[in-house]
Amino acid sequence: MSQILSQEAPPRLFPLFADLRGRRVLVVGAGSVGARKIEPLLMAGARVDIVAQALGERAQGWVLSGQAQWRSTAFEPRHLEGAWLVVVATNDEVLNRLVADEAERRQVLCNVVDVSRLSSFQSPAVVDRAPLQIAISSGGTAPVLARMVREQIERLLDDGLGPLASLLHRWRDRIRQHLPELSARRGWIDRLLRGPLARRLQALSTEQADATLESALQAAQQAPRGWVSIVGAGPGDPGLLTVQAVRRLQQADIILHDRLVPAAVLAMARRDAERIETGKQAGTHHTTQEQIHQLMLEHAREGKHVVRLKGGDPFVFGRGGEELEFLRAHGIDYEVVPGITAALACAAYAGIPLTHRDHAQSLRIVTAHCRDSLDTLDWQALALERQTLAVYMGVQGLSTFRQRLIEHGRAATTPVALIENGSRPEQRVLVGSLQTLPELAAHYQVVSPALLLIGEVTSLAASLHWFGQPPLQLPDAERARCEASMERCWPAAA
Ligand code: SAH
Repeated sequence: MSQILSQEAPPRLFPLFADLRGRRVLVVGAGSVGARKIEPLLMAGARVDIVAQALGERAQGWVLSGQAQWRSTAFEPRHLEGAWLVVVATNDEVLNRLVADEAERRQVLCNVVDVSRLSSFQSPAVVDRAPLQIAISSGGTAPVLARMVREQIERLLDDGLGPLASLLHRWRDRIRQHLPELSARRGWIDRLLRGPLARRLQALSTEQADATLESALQAAQQAPRGWVSIVGAGPGDPGLLTVQAVRRLQQADIILHDRLVPAAVLAMARRDAERIETGKQAGTHHTTQEQIHQLMLEHAREGKHVVRLKGGDPFVFGRGGEELEFLRAHGIDYEVVPGITAALACAAYAGIPLTHRDHAQSLRIVTAHCRDSLDTLDWQALALERQTLAVYMGVQGLSTFRQRLIEHGRAATTPVALIENGSRPEQRVLVGSLQTLPELAAHYQVVSPALLLIGEVTSLAASLHWFGQPPLQLPDAERARCEASMERCWPAAA
């Protein structure tokens, strides 16, 4: 065993970013692996010379368009003349060694793809936000680890960082002139990169971005401004957070979160971010919403980045609109990060396609959180056939839903599903018909959060479910009893 374990310590490599513009790089071998190496060389402006008996498809394209030169001969040591680097991408071991030895003799840095012992330089895994680039190396010991780290960093960094870096490069002298003192300048740039402007600049034309940056520079001496990210936390499975939501959770100074947001989601947040639960008690919505507004205002005015984290999507029965109006009225900067709303998540995790060519051409999202709101619904429209209803906060209003829909013409046999704790490990899916809906919920003691889906598509859960337990139904005896008593009020044939 010990003979096959390597005794050699891994090399400690010197990190280097090389300016290859106009410099000659020799590439030996031009199949798909070679092409992967040639592409970034061309992007860096290198003069690529290919030595290969045959060209792969992509290399052919570069040669035809004149971006790279090609010699269709066997490798000869003289090909190395004038090259700054050589990359070897063949699976001919003898040739690989020959090129590596010749390169060594001529002091040309050489990379033999995936063979670190023959390589005098290695190409790192790269997170590319050019001109910002992050290179990761495991010194050739564990390329898989380097790639894993790359993926993690990739997720953390906004796509717009590259253009932002270019913008700052263009503005470098102007910023230096306005903020000559180093620490003030650094502080300002740091706040710019972390703050709401960084996002906004990305969506602006060059002239607009210039104007915005100029006014930000004029305001540089003022106290730093806080801001609020209104972030959708999705239905509970942390895997359903958006990449942007995770970034915001990792940048936040303070997180104001709903009671519905589970610990697994909060675990994604920066450890030293302050967390405040803004639990809402039924009936005290108004005062509590006021308090949430005040909390956002107070902390943003202290210069903090506030993340207002809401279950599902902030704009679907989430009062996100009111919070925005409040922030706008008080001159606080904000952004909105959408989340996966309960209807989408519950349907997906129950195996219920919300629309289906054979069963439903439209989807309606409604809420049933109190009597008043039930009275204002357009029952005529809700009772139409061939549509799916997604009812939020509906656990209490089930009898009313049944009664009104049947009165307005929806068949008592219409299939329904109740999804409790959708997307979470404790998810339960209950299926039945409109006729026995309240009894179904009572039998299984459904608790909040639960979503009600009504429509033919819900019957597909029986065959398409994939997550957690299979759907539960009312036991036969109970169902028969309910149906018999219901028959008098709402005949199944209605
Ligand atoms: N903004 C949220 C909805 C808030 S209203 C969103 O977009 O999802 C709260 C209601 O959403 C709950 O009463 C319930 O009906 C539904 N809900 C939220 N999360 C849920 C979950 N994980 N499973 C089932 N229903 C959920």
